[in-house]
Order: sequence, then C-alpha cells, then structure tokens
Amino acid sequence: MPRAWVGLGSNLGDSRKTLCRAIDELDLLAGTRLAARSHIYRTPPWGQHNQPDFFNAVAELDTILGAERLLDALLALEHRHGRVRRTRWGARTLDLDLLLYAGMVIDTPRLKVPHPRLTMRGFVLVPLAELAPELKVPGRGTVIDLLAHVDIRGIDMVRCA
Ligand code: AMP
Repeated sequence: MPRAWVGLGSNLGDSRKTLCRAIDELDLLAGTRLAARSHIYRTPPWGQHNQPDFFNAVAELDTILGAERLLDALLALEHRHGRVRRTRWGARTLDLDLLLYAGMVIDTPRLKVPHPRLTMRGFVLVPLAELAPELKVPGRGTVIDLLAHVDIRGIDMVRCA
C-alpha cells in the first residue's frame, strides 16, 4: 500500500486540539490508515511575523488513495475545520500539505510532490525526522541530511491539548 507523509499546521483557535483531532481524522479517511504521528511542535510564524505562533506535526499514512484523491481528502478536511484563506502566509485554522507520496515526483497544476517548501522548513523537517530520518526526499537526499541545513531555533515539542 502506498505510504504518504502529511504536514499539519495551525495558528488560529485552539491549535493543539485542532492538530490532535485532525490527525485522528486522517485515520478515518476512506482507504487510509494512520501508521504513525509525530509530536506536536510550537514554531515561530513563517513569512508574516505579526501573527500567533504556529503548531505543526506530521502524520504518516498508508493509503489506497492515489495522490490526487488524497489531496482532495486533505482539502476537504481543511474546509471542515473552517479554514479561511485570507493572505498567503497568514493565520489559518488548519493547513494540510501532502509532503511525500510513495517516493514519487508529481508535478501537476494542482499538486507538487515532494511539497516544494519541504526542504527549507524546519517546522516540517523536525517532525518528519522524528518519524522517518532516513527517508529519501526524491532528488534532495535524506530527511536527516536536509534537517542539518535549516534553522530549527524556537521549535519546541509540546503536548497534545
Ligand atoms: P496553500 O494554501 O499554500 O497550502 O496551498 C494550497 C494549494 O496548493 C492547494 O489548493 C493545492 O492545489 C496546492 N498544492 C500543490 N501541491 C500541494 C501539496 N503537495 N500539498 C498540498 N497542496 C498542494
């Protein structure tokens, strides 16, 4: 069964509760099983600095859904959590990114895998490295090697709410 890694982020509302609940909900998606979940991390805001801290996590999924169908399911889950898209890097209730899918490279108008910003973001690489340090990011090397090259200051592990 294909294995996928999903990045979760939130900085509006009760973010820790949202992330913990969203991870449980990933396990309930059709044809999909949660294989592992990272801890939750509190991270300084990315892009726009005048907004609350983010909370981030990564989930590892086994799924029979193709990558595009999985993306559809992730977007539907975001909407159920009332995500309002105001500005590009702005505050959001729940952001779900398909980081990696079965070692594949996908480049369509609506889906890029590996996720384009995966390799620059400590708040994605830290929880991903917790689950799969030796995982290869196609064309980029292993997660643990990529982690050595990003700024991870201010990224702290926290408990589920
Ligand atoms: P953003 O609001 O920055 O998270 O962008 C969401 C949009 O990015 C979605 O509507 C997707 O069509 C598109 N997208 C492209 N690649 C990905 C990916 N790997 N994971 C999630 N969304 C993606």
